[in-house]
Amino acid sequence: MLVNTPNGLYCPAGDFHVDPRRGVERALITHAHSDHARSGSQGYWCAQPGLGVLRERLKPSAAITGVAYGQSLRFKDVQISFHPAGHVLGSAQIRLEHRGEVWVVSGDYKLQPDPTCTPFEPVRCHTFITECTFGLPIYQWPTPESVFHAIRSWWQSNSQAARTSVLHAYSLGKAQRLLSGLDPAQGPLLVHGSILPALRAYRAEGICLPEVERLSEERLRTAAGRALVITPPQADEPASLVGPGGVSRAFASGWMHVRGGRQGRGSDTGFVLSDHADWPGLTQAIQATNARRILVTHGSTRPLVRWLREKGLDAASLEAPARVVEEGSAPS
Ligand SMILES: [Zn+2]
Ligand SMILES: [Zn+2]
Repeated sequence: MLVNTPNGLYCPAGDFHVDPRRGVERALITHAHSDHARSGSQGYWCAQPGLGVLRERLKPSAAITGVAYGQSLRFKDVQISFHPAGHVLGSAQIRLEHRGEVWVVSGDYKLQPDPTCTPFEPVRCHTFITECTFGLPIYQWPTPESVFHAIRSWWQSNSQAARTSVLHAYSLGKAQRLLSGLDPAQGPLLVHGSILPALRAYRAEGICLPEVERLSEERLRTAAGRALVITPPQADEPASLVGPGGVSRAFASGWMHVRGGRQGRGSDTGFVLSDHADWPGLTQAIQATNARRILVTHGSTRPLVRWLREKGLDAASLEAPARVVEEGSAPS
């Protein structure tokens, strides 16, 4: 039902692409991260809650149709619907049905609880195309509660030493998820300007997030080392970022699970918080679809393919459409 083409996954029977790599006529988008949502297509379809963040990503003139989770839509002979993927706001798995045959494209997903998006919903299908960013048994995430507890304690001890806390996180998804677990009563929450558009889109969808202030030289000075700053990894930083007691940097990502991930980014601390499924999450999600055929993409696919074959499933790797941008590629 779907074939891998130079433009990405294409459905001949419905004449549309899923997360195309370049501009096409009809693009069904799983979510607004840059490795899935690219500009230049004539028409876009996405899950309704993701409309705002997708609009921020694409040109203002882009023709985007938001479709409610679970609502059916027809493209020629193919029935399609979007189902929650639990990855970031509006992220979706896309279900395709053609003459009784059902495929689901997972997009990126996670099973961990996240108050900033609709939880992952298993969808039964014959063929499941799954991401596998963290497709090794070593990846097993701690609970978000324990990670947030560690982040708050880190911030507190930095504050006591008048040391600015700088948390590096991707501007769409991770930044908002982090904010949802932080309280401005503990100190000023300062966010880099590039995070604000997505933050507005989250609030417009009714996601409850704490009050934040825009990161600025002046605000950093008055905060005197008590602020927690959230900034994307490559963003420019004010010179006054360093508080009276210095600065402590941390990165919040699944890559923090491995030692090299921390060293590669020059952070003092790493918090293991991922918007992708860990190994138990992947295997659980795949089994919940009841699919007999699994196509694996996005990451090192071989160990997962082998594991699935040992379970008697028809599994293969699908040539990776592109490198993962939003979680960073493997530490270099
Ligand atoms: Zn993503
Ligand atoms: Zn991705």
